[in-house]
Amino acid sequence: MSQSNKALFIIFGGTGDLAQRKLYPSLYRLYIKGFLEEQFAVIGTARREWSDEHYQEIVRDSVKKLGGSEEQVEAFSRHFYYQSHNVKDTEHYNTLRDLSDDLDKKYDIGGNRIFYLSMSPNFFGTITSHLKSQNLVNDQGFNRVIIEKPFGTDYESSKALNDEILEAFESEELYRIDHYLGKEMVQNILAFRFSNPLIEQVWNKQFISNIQITLSEELGVEERAGYYDTSGALRDMVQNHIMQIFSLLTMEAPASFNSQEVKEKKMNVLTSLKQLSAEDVKANFVRAQYAHSNKKSLNGYLEEENVDKDSSTETYIAGKIELENDRWSGVPIYVRTGKRMAKKEAQISIVFKKSASPLYDTEETAENIITLYLGPSEGFSMTLNEKKIGMSMDTTIMKLDHLRSEGTIQESPEAYEKLLLDCLNGDRTHFAHWEEVSNSWKYVDAIRQAWDQSNEKLAQYEAGTVGPEEANELLAKDGHEWVWNPK
Ligand code: NAD
Repeated sequence: MSQSNKALFIIFGGTGDLAQRKLYPSLYRLYIKGFLEEQFAVIGTARREWSDEHYQEIVRDSVKKLGGSEEQVEAFSRHFYYQSHNVKDTEHYNTLRDLSDDLDKKYDIGGNRIFYLSMSPNFFGTITSHLKSQNLVNDQGFNRVIIEKPFGTDYESSKALNDEILEAFESEELYRIDHYLGKEMVQNILAFRFSNPLIEQVWNKQFISNIQITLSEELGVEERAGYYDTSGALRDMVQNHIMQIFSLLTMEAPASFNSQEVKEKKMNVLTSLKQLSAEDVKANFVRAQYAHSNKKSLNGYLEEENVDKDSSTETYIAGKIELENDRWSGVPIYVRTGKRMAKKEAQISIVFKKSASPLYDTEETAENIITLYLGPSEGFSMTLNEKKIGMSMDTTIMKLDHLRSEGTIQESPEAYEKLLLDCLNGDRTHFAHWEEVSNSWKYVDAIRQAWDQSNEKLAQYEAGTVGPEEANELLAKDGHEWVWNPK
């Protein structure tokens, strides 16, 4: 049974895209499921002058298609309050504190506060220092701060950002959201690996030939071009989502789901990453930009609005990551991610070594491949060999598929919904810890520095395709090919 929670949520950036598309729907799902009942309130803040009524209408609009009755939607929205607020204005924090204290009493919340910074990270330090100095941090219940990516643009800036926030909050109070960690199928990596002895026994270099992680997007940069052009695929996707998925796939089994325990196991792999020289980066990483497609009538990256016409920002990266430890040395882990690719697809393929038996050392016998579909479809597939029907002893490939249903509101929680609930429960297991963030920045910085010092041109790929030919060559050099390769 669900257990209801008490909290006041203060959302900075309450009029923004993330708040409307993800945060309000996720809070609503928790409400419908009984994880939030009466003892909660939400204050949305942003610069615009909105009334509570208008804000509540926006909230109703963002949740009304999610099920539940009209009365439930109405009752839920009545917990929402709006405060026009410029985050740089100290006086505004005093108004916000008074409203927070009033709502705390009105809803009998007991002082529990979750500050959600759904704004540009440039403001994080200003907000957290004011929360502390203007006494919004409460000494009755818990105080938790959730921050959104990007956590800096390199190791140095992420450390400065972290230090700034930690002047006002304890490290246990800081929740760095990486929404991939809240995805059903990303959490399923642990269940799949550690609840199946059949799988866990072969999850190592003795049996695995290579691992492939693909996070491809069909959309281009859209209205985020201004931000994206200063970031690129390496910082936007590899430093966070790909390195987190990579850690879950390669770490040793934690003794429990305790946050500290899981973090330590992830850290063991992140500190075993093979360090990259400039030559390694040149040989093992491909960066590319999407180019105009006549066939699909799609703009090239340099034709997009708000993109610098000489931009050398990569919209695609493919690379080979290697670990130097007992379980994985010698097993390449190929990763790739890009915008304007053929299709939206997030998947992991585990490619096993071919049969060692001379009986089946034939061309028809394929490698066993397990694929985890992270989204939009969720599930697994496995390819095995079996005997072909007939007189001969030849083999043929069989593919077993298990697709999980799309799910209803009751069954399949949203990533943000799960993570908000974890935060309410004080569980940081599925959040990014500073040690993980800092180590993955150091790895990614080495790639960025090698690129900055190189005068090699970016590769190109036609918009709407799977990526540049150079990414195929990267695997071909090792005698491998991408499992996901839509034409
Ligand atoms: P957005 O631009 O839609 O919203 C930004 C919000 O900040 C708005 O409510 C705006 O009014 C407010 N704001 C800006 N300056 C302000 C000021 N001086 N004082 C008070 N309020 C101010 O951005 P978003 O897409 O909602 O993203 C928010 C954060 O989440 C960003 O850090 C972004 O990188 C991150 N993020 C967003 C998404 C997404 O899907 N939208 C995904 C991952 C991470």
